[in-house]
Amino acid sequence: MEPMPGRVRKDPMVIVGGGVAGGNGAAVLREEGFPGRVVIISGEPGVPFGRPPLSKTYLRSEEGVDGWYVRPADWWASHDVEILAESRVAAIDTAARAVALDSGRELRYHKLLLATGGRNRQLDVPGGGLAGIHYLRTVAECDAIKAEVGANRHAVVVGMGFIGCEVAASLRQLGVRVTAILPGRVPLAKVLGAEVGAVLAGFHRANGVELLTGEQVRAFEGDGRVAAVVTVSGKRLACDFVVVGVGVSADVPPVTGAPLELANGILTDELCRTSATDVYAAGDVANQLHPLFGRIRVEHFNNAERQGAAAARSMLGSDAAYDYVHTFWSDQYEHKVEYVGHAATWDDFVIRGSADEGRLIGFYLQDGVVCAAVGIDRGGDPEADLDGEVAACARLVAERARPAPGALADERTDLWSQPRGA
Ligand SMILES: Cc1cc2nc3c(=O)[nH]c(=O)nc-3n(C[C@H](O)[C@H](O)[C@H](O)COP(=O)(O)OP(=O)(O)OC[C@H]3O[C@@H](n4cnc5c(N)ncnc54)[C@H](O)[C@@H]3O)c2cc1C
Repeated sequence: MEPMPGRVRKDPMVIVGGGVAGGNGAAVLREEGFPGRVVIISGEPGVPFGRPPLSKTYLRSEEGVDGWYVRPADWWASHDVEILAESRVAAIDTAARAVALDSGRELRYHKLLLATGGRNRQLDVPGGGLAGIHYLRTVAECDAIKAEVGANRHAVVVGMGFIGCEVAASLRQLGVRVTAILPGRVPLAKVLGAEVGAVLAGFHRANGVELLTGEQVRAFEGDGRVAAVVTVSGKRLACDFVVVGVGVSADVPPVTGAPLELANGILTDELCRTSATDVYAAGDVANQLHPLFGRIRVEHFNNAERQGAAAARSMLGSDAAYDYVHTFWSDQYEHKVEYVGHAATWDDFVIRGSADEGRLIGFYLQDGVVCAAVGIDRGGDPEADLDGEVAACARLVAERARPAPGALADERTDLWSQPRGA
């Protein structure tokens, strides 16, 4: 670590983005002993928080977001971390080492962490601007969806990625009638494969979601407010409101001076450093060169939390590569999905358990190496249940293990006993 110089530098560590990556980055700077000014510039109101409850417990009014604060609300002031809330960085000048806020204010930085997250892709179809068509990323957007919920209401959910699946589940739990439109045959086939997608489709159908597969939206209709969705095959679905979840792209602020190398997000090396001196990136916006997985941009909470912290340590001079074996979870109805590793493609998929019963671990293999695994209702969070099956899968991924597929499929084989990779 760089020796702590005391409060000799005038320019602060500046963090752009008050989500889980930016919040953790700022907190870790302070917790690791950085004594100088730390400033978070956040486009949102309030203190840094995590978004997972917005499609689940918060949407269903079961909890507030305070349980998801990165640190307690009073931690920031008591640790002398400044938060400029509801302020956006309009431009970054890497030559002048300064950011310009949309208020016109300028702030020079000693080092800069970009944790600006993602932006929802918009559906560019006729009627796309009608009232009653919702996207979900912020608390305000979630509140707008909550205001639509009521008995005998009919929602159309467009896209059955994680957000669409979780929103569809929550809306059903709230008694809303749900029709979901998805381009593929099952939800999440690209990420989790057709077999797991079929299990998820079964969960949604069992809970009363009507799945319109192989479909896309051609237009929204309504007089000021959405009243129907028209699909490419010509179906017309009357509805009360719509929630669209068709993907997220990296939200990169404009940069002058030394350019930031971009390709599906901000490119970083293993230490979360971008191509511009003293500029780092973490969370959904960062496309990191990962020691195990190669280039990877991850849109999940656990990564944002840890990568924000790793970037902060790099800003303080650590030379430890960020090599987290990625994990994420999704909750849909009473079902728990836990995923470890990363597999963009795979040439073999092995199931332990039963897809028919909807309780399984699926292993994604490429050339015999376990790249990732998914657990459906198979025990807990690999971070909490360190001896559990999913944690054992994380070890297989980290060690690039090549177990025999038969051993993976066999419930009697202890996953912890599998040999390490070459
Ligand atoms: C509804 C929902 C549910 C989710 N559920 C799960 C889940 O169950 N499991 C899971 O693993 N992941 C889940 N995720 C994904 C997870 O929340 C994201 O991966 C995580 O939020 C990424 O954190 P981040 O800090 O990188 O970005 P964000 O959380 O998007 O935060 C980015 C911040 O930067 C700010 N910002 C952007 N541009 C500027 C600018 N120019 N100036 C100032 N501020 C700016 C934004 O306002 C925002 O505050 C969910 C996401 C959503 C939306």
